[in-house]
Amino acid sequence: MLSRNLLRLNNLRNVKKLVPVSSARCYSDRPETSQAPSLTDFGTRKIFSEEHDIFRQSVRRFFQEEVAPNHSEWEKDGQVSREVWKAAGKNGLLGVNTPAEHGGIGGDVLSTAITWEEQMYVNCSGPGFALHSDIVMPYISHYGTPEQIEKFIPAMTDGSCIGAIAMTEPGAGSDLQGIRTNAKQDGDDWILNGSKVFITNGYMADLVVVVAVTNPQAKSAAHGISLFLVENGMKGFIKGRKLQKIGFKAQDTAELFFEDVRLPSSALLGEANKGFYYLMQELPQERLIIAGMAQASMEWMFEETRSYVKQRKAFGKTISNLQTIQHKLAEMKTSICVTRAFVDRCLQIHNDTGLDSESASMAKYWCSDLQNEVATKCLQMHGGWGYMWEYPIARAFVDSRVQPIYGGSNEIMKELIARQIMSNK
Ligand SMILES: Cc1cc2nc3c(=O)[nH]c(=O)nc-3n(C[C@H](O)[C@H](O)[C@H](O)COP(=O)(O)OP(=O)(O)OC[C@H]3O[C@@H](n4cnc5c(N)ncnc54)[C@H](O)[C@@H]3O)c2cc1C
Repeated sequence: MLSRNLLRLNNLRNVKKLVPVSSARCYSDRPETSQAPSLTDFGTRKIFSEEHDIFRQSVRRFFQEEVAPNHSEWEKDGQVSREVWKAAGKNGLLGVNTPAEHGGIGGDVLSTAITWEEQMYVNCSGPGFALHSDIVMPYISHYGTPEQIEKFIPAMTDGSCIGAIAMTEPGAGSDLQGIRTNAKQDGDDWILNGSKVFITNGYMADLVVVVAVTNPQAKSAAHGISLFLVENGMKGFIKGRKLQKIGFKAQDTAELFFEDVRLPSSALLGEANKGFYYLMQELPQERLIIAGMAQASMEWMFEETRSYVKQRKAFGKTISNLQTIQHKLAEMKTSICVTRAFVDRCLQIHNDTGLDSESASMAKYWCSDLQNEVATKCLQMHGGWGYMWEYPIARAFVDSRVQPIYGGSNEIMKELIARQIMSNK
């Protein structure tokens, strides 16, 4: 057990003791982000325990030592190394929230959220760990047969099997019901044809959860979609180019092609024609991940910019002396901390009972939009240096841009939120 001294709580001695609100796991003597000296401090936020802090320390060390020093090289390659996946597995950073009896680590949602946050606290978007662990693995864990779970989950937890999920197609992104990739039954097998685009981890993937139409005659498209586990090396499964992106430069995003791929019946994930239902169940978590990473990225950008303005001189003194800079920082800190309160509440709810779709959509849209505002303001405070790739804020700026687009665009998030508003009296 770590002593509180180690957790920097010494710095926080003056923080008032608060009464826990509702949860038995609410830690009353922990300050909230807004009360801490730095937005990325250890030992803060009442949703976490000291055990979480111990885990956070090892995760932080991993990202600082194994990821940050290699990131520039990976940006040139357009992908991270296989070794970093294996190292993440060895350090217990993959499948953190996947049940131990399935071969995962067996931690709670809050523990896996620590891995999302710490990745953003080093400003390294390359490793697609969150998608692998908290988007792809849950599909297998929740809907897989015992054989599928046994085959894939332990290998995904140790980093030897990299996962991806392929929904989007060149002609269908927001409108998932418009996909054309299809699988037709042939005896016990399925024959898969079609193509996917923008697939995170797609180039390195060993296993792809592919969304395909299996009943074109269904009363609505949503009732005729299934999920398949497609493995690298299967005949007819072709990986296209790594796509050139304006950000996320060290993350492999690929096109995938399926040309008469013969899949055994054991490749079907869950029941046939239930795929859309499964997607709807899992998407809130994907949206919460984006919100959680956006929030952590804002906290990192704020601290990075605070340090910069305190050392950058203009007109004989540091620019942090200028009231306009101070007010911008005050505005940003307020927005970030107010948002942190909502995100932590969403994390706690998701940990306890599962988050509803509307709240997840609100968190995703709000955080990713704010992340872009914060990125713009922080870059501006760096002046011309902020526009230079050698300054980390430049990377954070371009990485922010995709957040309102993927995982369901923010316009779609508003549709989902509005639908609920209109359905309630
Ligand atoms: C870096 C990156 C990684 C990605 N990773 C993955 C992945 O791993 N797996 C995967 O399957 N996909 C992935 N995607 C795809 C991503 O989810 C889609 O790009 C996203 O859903 C939007 O779809 P689209 O690009 O086809 O845009 P469109 O659907 O063509 O939308 C274009 C514009 O129209 C707006 N729009 C569309 N419909 C409506 C509506 N009803 N009301 C209001 N506005 C609307 C959209 O908000 C958007 O602004 C990734 C994308 C990127 C860029």
